[in-house]
Amino acid sequence: MKGRQLLMIPGPIEFTPEVLRAMGMSTTSHVAPDFIQVFGQALEQLRQVFLCPHGQPFVIAGSGTLAMDIAAANLIEPGDQALVVNTGYFSDRFATILERYGAAVTQVQAPSIGDAPPLEAVEAALKANTYKLMTITHVDTSTAVGVDLQSLAALGQNQGALVVVDGVCSVAGEEMHQEAWGIDLALTASQKAIGVPPGLALLVAGPRAMEAFRRRKSPVGNYYADWKEWLPIMEAYQAGRPSYFGTPPVNLIWALNVSLGQVLEEGMEARFARHRRLSEAFKAAITALGLKQVPVSPNRAATTLTAPYYPQGVGPELLGRANAAGAILAGGLHPAIKGQYFRVGHMGAVSASDILATIGAIEQGLAQSGYKFEPGIGLAAAQSILTQ
Ligand SMILES: *Cc1c(COP(=O)(O)O)cnc(C)c1O
Repeated sequence: MKGRQLLMIPGPIEFTPEVLRAMGMSTTSHVAPDFIQVFGQALEQLRQVFLCPHGQPFVIAGSGTLAMDIAAANLIEPGDQALVVNTGYFSDRFATILERYGAAVTQVQAPSIGDAPPLEAVEAALKANTYKLMTITHVDTSTAVGVDLQSLAALGQNQGALVVVDGVCSVAGEEMHQEAWGIDLALTASQKAIGVPPGLALLVAGPRAMEAFRRRKSPVGNYYADWKEWLPIMEAYQAGRPSYFGTPPVNLIWALNVSLGQVLEEGMEARFARHRRLSEAFKAAITALGLKQVPVSPNRAATTLTAPYYPQGVGPELLGRANAAGAILAGGLHPAIKGQYFRVGHMGAVSASDILATIGAIEQGLAQSGYKFEPGIGLAAAQSILTQ
């Protein structure tokens, strides 16, 4: 028997063999000519994946939370007003980070768990005050809620707020056109839909965000996060020169360049469409099995992950059983409903057969938990979409 399970959580995810080979190769110097070329190419490819041709990419060792921290540290000065469009756990985190740098934070809350604030409520909040920036969590990984990013970003742009998007669970999976949608800063981490092992904070800042940074009156209150230090580094590698502030995570950047190449080879539109299709198939299986989801409606549901509630009589023991049947799934994260639901990531290099294997493992787990259903009914629902 193969002793290896599919890693179907909302990050880290399954990585391609080519990406893993880049992780395992001999580490080069960070000033070696071939690495300089690879770093420069990765930066250019990031612009293409974020669909932000005029953006300034930053690749910095750290996790997605560091990317959020970098955004807040560089764009917020003490006393600035910030608006958080709150869809759950990671929106709460952004509010906390913004406050840490001295922002006065106003939050527009979702009417219930699994929902997003209505556009009218966000527009009213933006009109009631002058905000330097607003943050939007594209996909809240705690609830699998995806927002109407294009409309929300347009509201922020219209009211003159910098639009900052936490795309940690969306970039390269969920449809996002950073420049065309008026997003001033988008950020992610390597281990989610970008498809590289954990360790990279990735940001692309548009011209308005860079301008707001240049106009700061006070120094950035975080030494490691300061764009004053990182911008010359990124500009040097873009120009084919090495430069040093902190040692870049060399193997991760080699792997990033490989993965971005694979993303672009698939094509952004094709990639968004594949994520939509696989998500639709997975969600159809969950529904056929009689499980409800945390998002309140299909148009609030993300395509990069699914958050089903456990059915009556089943609890977190399902996860261990699904694991034994070959798929590693994640538990709940939102504190208010943590023990009542689980999460399945299906982003990045995920294939139709990964989806089917995962549904098979969930069916095995449900059966062992004593849940009554017709075996194969989830698989059939998914197949009816995957074979179209
Ligand atoms: C995973 C995630 C984060 C945090 O990223 P880490 O790499 O775990 O620090 C932030 N926001 C969202 C939406 C996420 O999904």
